[in-house]
Amino acid sequence: MNTDSKTNAAVGYKFDRRFHDRDALLVQMDSYAHPTNNPQSIENEEKSNREELPKELALNLREEVTVEGFLDPLRRRYAHQPVFLQAVEEMAKSVTPLFEDEVNGEFYKRAFLVMTEPERTISFRVLWQDDRGDMKCNRGWRVEFNSALGPFKGGLRFHPTVTEGVLKFLGFEQVFKNALTGLPMGGAKGGSDFDPKGKSDGEIRRFCEAFMNELVKHIGGNTDIPAGDIGVGEREIGYLFGQYKKLSNDNDGTLTGKPLILGGSLLRPEATGYGAVYMAQIAVEREGGTLKGKRCAVSGSGNVAQYAAKKLIDLGAKVITMSDSNGTLVFKNGMTLEEWNTVVEIKQKKRGRLSSLKLCDQNTEYIANHSPWKLRDLKLDYAFPCATQNEINGTSMDRLIDNGLVGVFEGANLPTTLAGQKHLREKKILYIPGKACNAGGVSVSGFEMSQNAMHLIWTNEEVDAKLKETMQAIYNQIDNVKEGGECTLEEGANRAGFLKVALAMKKLGWIW
Ligand code: NAP
Repeated sequence: MNTDSKTNAAVGYKFDRRFHDRDALLVQMDSYAHPTNNPQSIENEEKSNREELPKELALNLREEVTVEGFLDPLRRRYAHQPVFLQAVEEMAKSVTPLFEDEVNGEFYKRAFLVMTEPERTISFRVLWQDDRGDMKCNRGWRVEFNSALGPFKGGLRFHPTVTEGVLKFLGFEQVFKNALTGLPMGGAKGGSDFDPKGKSDGEIRRFCEAFMNELVKHIGGNTDIPAGDIGVGEREIGYLFGQYKKLSNDNDGTLTGKPLILGGSLLRPEATGYGAVYMAQIAVEREGGTLKGKRCAVSGSGNVAQYAAKKLIDLGAKVITMSDSNGTLVFKNGMTLEEWNTVVEIKQKKRGRLSSLKLCDQNTEYIANHSPWKLRDLKLDYAFPCATQNEINGTSMDRLIDNGLVGVFEGANLPTTLAGQKHLREKKILYIPGKACNAGGVSVSGFEMSQNAMHLIWTNEEVDAKLKETMQAIYNQIDNVKEGGECTLEEGANRAGFLKVALAMKKLGWIW
């Protein structure tokens, strides 16, 4: 047997120590400090730590902390946060086989349980004035989930459906996504139930300033670096950053996704969508296929959807749909670059609805009140859900697969329900979950932080090359775990992210 590897026959899981060697920065750093500290000795260290526990306590932990025994109380405690519970359950499905590992299993179990509780959650009121002079009150949150790998990092969402539970699910996902990027970033998410739709520019600015009046107390270049998400684009980041600068008297670049002129990075707007398509390209080509000429559905028409569609067109794929919350545009033979420009113009400049587009020729049809995934006769090769959580349920996924779907690449966070994911596993569909597939955005945010720190601006070509490299490195990590553990790419992504965070938390003495 290879001495680097350890096989647990009971679960068919091969624990590949080389993964830790190559990818866990903390292990490498530790190796410099302690030349004798090789992966084997980490294993021994974990074993001896466990042996030092009083026997009763060790047994108690084992008895009390079964995964189901943990998920049930979690479900009771957070019954009002269903999408957070969904995110934990999806992750649990992938990582529980690790708990059978003879040496580290008990540690992994405890680590996972600890990781489901945020380090802290800040909730606050946001008082702002509308154009009529009326006072409005919204709720705001920042869920600082896990800072083991670096400062908290993750977007802000402004949408009427935002609750603490939604931000907890997004923060939980962000922790593992950021770990996969290989950059030193912890995970967080924040936002408000404020609805930017239909608001004037003045109202947006006043709301952003009021939101930052509280958030400023909790963020900073080495503590917590927010970015955008649904409802928070360059305009909002500009206003938030403006108020941050006024209040903090600091110019450390806190907040990423800034307009270029304020220290933003080239290609940050494109990064999430481009990254998702680069990931799809890598995965499809790995299986001997190509995106060229393939029928791809994109949902949403916001930041991620726009640039996923653009890169698909660039690569010769056929973009069959784009959508917003009112309906879907279907491009029967694929969207042209001219049509893409029209969509972007209406979304970015006019902030309008797809229904107002005058694209109607024989190639195009607008279908009101339907997402792409609800269209009965849609024949697709690949799906790129890029709008929001739980867009594709079990019934839709089943039908899409029956109609010929062979791959799903998630630009959005958790766009597939647990039932939808079950179909993907059962039918062995090529599937890269959001935390790996949409990590290009936060990666370029990490590059923005580096450029700000160095007072440099990288060229488009430099950022694009680094983005491609990062997506390839993420794919390699999940593929390594997949190969080692004979699991799916979905499980590989979840396990690779989890193992990194668990190791960092152990090294910090945050779990033992
Ligand atoms: P965005 O620019 O605000 O666009 C969101 C798009 O999704 C819009 O077309 C919107 O339609 C649609 N949408 C939102 N909520 C919806 C709902 N409940 N039902 C149907 N459609 C809905 O946001 P984004 O930045 O592209 O983010 C999209 C997804 O990607 C989110 O899941 C986000 O968390 C994820 N993500 C974003 C980034 C990033 O860098 N921006 C990075 C990683 C992941 P309407 O205009 O009609 O609301």
